[in-house]
Amino acid sequence: MSLLERAPDLAAANEILHRVFGYEQFRGKQAEVISAVLAGRDVLAVLPTGGGKSLCYQIPALLRPGFGLVISPLIALMSDQVNALVARGVKAAKLDSTQDLTQRGDIWDAARTGELDLLYLSPEALASPFVRDKLSRLPVNLVAIDEAHCISQWGHDFRPEYRALGQVKALFPDVPAMALTATADHVTRADICAALHLDNPVEVVAGFDRPNLSLRFVRRKGAALKEISALLQRQKGASGIIYCGSRDGTEKLARALSLEGFSATAYHAGLPANTREDRLKAFMAGKAKIMVATIAFGMGINKADVRFVVHADPPSSMEAYWQEVGRAGRDGLPASGVCFYAPGDLGWAVRRLTLRENEGAADQSVQKQKARDFFATVLGPDCRRQAVKRYFGEEAGGACGTCDNCLSRGRLTDVTEAAQMLMSALYRLNGPRGRKKLVEHVLGKSDKPDYTTRIKTYGIAKGHYDAPLLTHVLDQCEAAGVIAEELYDGKMPIVALRDSDLLKQLFKGDLKLTAKI
Ligand code: ADP
Ligand code: ZN
Repeated sequence: MSLLERAPDLAAANEILHRVFGYEQFRGKQAEVISAVLAGRDVLAVLPTGGGKSLCYQIPALLRPGFGLVISPLIALMSDQVNALVARGVKAAKLDSTQDLTQRGDIWDAARTGELDLLYLSPEALASPFVRDKLSRLPVNLVAIDEAHCISQWGHDFRPEYRALGQVKALFPDVPAMALTATADHVTRADICAALHLDNPVEVVAGFDRPNLSLRFVRRKGAALKEISALLQRQKGASGIIYCGSRDGTEKLARALSLEGFSATAYHAGLPANTREDRLKAFMAGKAKIMVATIAFGMGINKADVRFVVHADPPSSMEAYWQEVGRAGRDGLPASGVCFYAPGDLGWAVRRLTLRENEGAADQSVQKQKARDFFATVLGPDCRRQAVKRYFGEEAGGACGTCDNCLSRGRLTDVTEAAQMLMSALYRLNGPRGRKKLVEHVLGKSDKPDYTTRIKTYGIAKGHYDAPLLTHVLDQCEAAGVIAEELYDGKMPIVALRDSDLLKQLFKGDLKLTAKI
């Protein structure tokens, strides 16, 4: 019997949905999640922002004796939820560091005497032995962990304080544990389940279809400012977010755009808290139209009429990309995501991760693979909507017809041969090379003859391919995992053969590469 056929449980859930929340029917996969929890199962739910994750734990908490424990990292959002619940007559409370002892005492009393349906808690609060001890003796009926991707070091927003949540299952062994997030790929999902010790969880994944979003990736040719400002002209004063890779970059770009007459402001973690708050308020109220930000601008920001998200620099994983571009068009009206990239961006992302390792961080190979997978999509020919859905494990469905790849379907060229030329040159040169040197080698450009100009691959691509295309193909070889970036002498970026199986596949023509020309 499928979980959905458990009619009695869902009848009660439906009754609460109508009576308490005033909604007609469950949305998306809410019913599936709720059924699983009511059947006593642990659940990992990956549902879109605005998709109604809260009801997935609120309704079961109301149906089961005792109260539901909700762990959420954002105190402001917790307050909103608690207020909204109280307004609907639900007995909800939150426990946080701003409360005094009397207030806390009242909440504990309510929890003990059955006067509580939902208790919201920050991850830091749960780390306190006092709080854990109290809770272990109270009738907790489920534990829901919101923004659960924060527990995974492979996720796009790892928070060390979330690691304490690993104890949740041991603290409350007999109640369902729920992990909820809007964005997690299969690696992150497995990591969340392992870190939380979820017991054979039901995984519900949906919502990677955003038909009102048109997605575009643009290979940057000139200065970023010029291309971005041309793009903004077409937006005609609509609200949007521009993501930059560095704090400095946000300030420079916001200043330059302001000088060109756009209403732009910068946001990053290095700004004083009150400046950040003022700018956030101005953006939310529509006074500042364009927010030029680092990834510090993100979680919990819910502005429905963001018409565009631009990546001035590309992110380094599909999760981060989707999380960020997903902030556009929450109102369901047409919105666009434009991501700029330049040759060597993947190499730069990988070098940054290596640097982190050299500074003592844990092995970043999972992160590096995520970067390669993301750039393989960016540089690849597939419909963007299908690629996103496939990446997150959702049925791909039809092509969107609106993304850059759908619109340029006719201009695709097989560049496998160009890749074979580059790779055989790298092989024959018998050691890593700088990208530029390698491209010059196959084009036969050299100042002076030496042993490399006598190798068969010298000038092999001359007259067939130009330098920009060869550089692009080199990036594709890196995204496919055939080559990898290394730092020569700790600073000089060079490329080296990485995977001999992939190399063989490329030479045999089993691994094919395609590019827009
Ligand atoms: P999420 O946490 O997934 O981002 P929320 O739980 O905050 O989303 O829900 C987003 C909005 O959708 C809320 O205003 C919520 O009340 C509303 N909502 C949730 N479920 C339903 C439903 N079944 N029918 C109508 N509205 C719903
Ligand atoms: Zn498409």
